[in-house]
Amino acid sequence: MGQFQMNVPLLDLKAQFLGIKKEVMDVVETVCEEQGFVLGPRVVELEQALASYVGASYAVGVASGSDALLLSLMAVGVGQGDEVITVPFTFFATAGAVSRLGAKPVFVDIRPDTFNLDPMRIEAKITAKTKAIIPVHLFGQCAEMGAINEIATRKKLAVIEDACQAIGAMQHGVRAGVLGDTGCFSFFPSKNLGGFGDGGLVTMNDAKLHDALAMLRVHGSRIRYVHEQIGINSRLDALQAAILRVKLNHLDRWTEGRRRNAARYDKLFAETRLIDRIATPVTQPGNYHVFNQYTIRAQRRDELKNFLKDRGIGTEIYYPIPMHEQDCYRFLGHKKGDFPVSEQASAEALSLPIFAELTDAQLDYVVESIKAFYDKR
Ligand SMILES: *Cc1c(COP(=O)(O)O)cnc(C)c1O
Repeated sequence: MGQFQMNVPLLDLKAQFLGIKKEVMDVVETVCEEQGFVLGPRVVELEQALASYVGASYAVGVASGSDALLLSLMAVGVGQGDEVITVPFTFFATAGAVSRLGAKPVFVDIRPDTFNLDPMRIEAKITAKTKAIIPVHLFGQCAEMGAINEIATRKKLAVIEDACQAIGAMQHGVRAGVLGDTGCFSFFPSKNLGGFGDGGLVTMNDAKLHDALAMLRVHGSRIRYVHEQIGINSRLDALQAAILRVKLNHLDRWTEGRRRNAARYDKLFAETRLIDRIATPVTQPGNYHVFNQYTIRAQRRDELKNFLKDRGIGTEIYYPIPMHEQDCYRFLGHKKGDFPVSEQASAEALSLPIFAELTDAQLDYVVESIKAFYDKR
């Protein structure tokens, strides 16, 4: 007898597209007719809409979230020999942007409950070379910006939010993107506001930072062929901007869907009494979590992942290797045990399907399957 099987992918972008196909295809056609593809009015329109959504004075569209981080660091003046504090438990781009500029990523461990930067550990890592802090709002929940900004202000450090997974997230009613000096967003398709390819954006309130960013993304030039600074080519294109502008109208609805699904998981997991086997995500008071990922901690995580795969359930490990254990960072001289909380997170974290279009039956099936895994052993 074959057991009951359901297909629950980690993410199904086709389901989302079907609901907005007409709107999207209409703007794609319009942009094709306009034949203006790089920057231009479509990008300005998106920048204004997103600045307003986030509550920022300015927004600058760039080629990716990775470039949003790189350009932010350039704009605040990080360069050769400087140090930038960030977490080892993140996507590579956070640390990579620092290294691309000849600066050194200085890692600070995370909190075990939220997976975010632990502000208590920052001050011990600040030196005369420290220029900036990059808190990552991992999985869609803001890091503790009050405590981080307090340290940054006292030590005169820039704060660059890696908000790539946190568009729409809030802390005490203030959106990610205006909780530091700049906010970095990614439109990679799997993000909560995903484009049809790569894309990114930087938000800020400071006019000088806006000026610097806008120039650095076009080879440091304000007037064509006149270069004030050595920038890079990192522009958002009109097709992405037009599609993202359409999708932005639906973002809050999709976010509410993710939050509804997260609440259902929380309730179902509480009922299973698996408390000694798994830990569900913790939202800190004052945080509005947008659940780019619903990440549990699980005992025998790898076995569980395979078991779920056999049952048709897609999961992913974000992130299996912390930055200080990456081959490319061996030169920093870290060893296993240097950042135990991040290392444990890498061993236990498992992200479950959470996208808005999931049905209650699918969510129930995921939880039942996890229960079945632990019941057997
Ligand atoms: C996605 C992501 C990035 C990079 O964004 P890209 O658009 O893929 O370059 C950076 N940091 C975090 C935490 C991310 O999740």
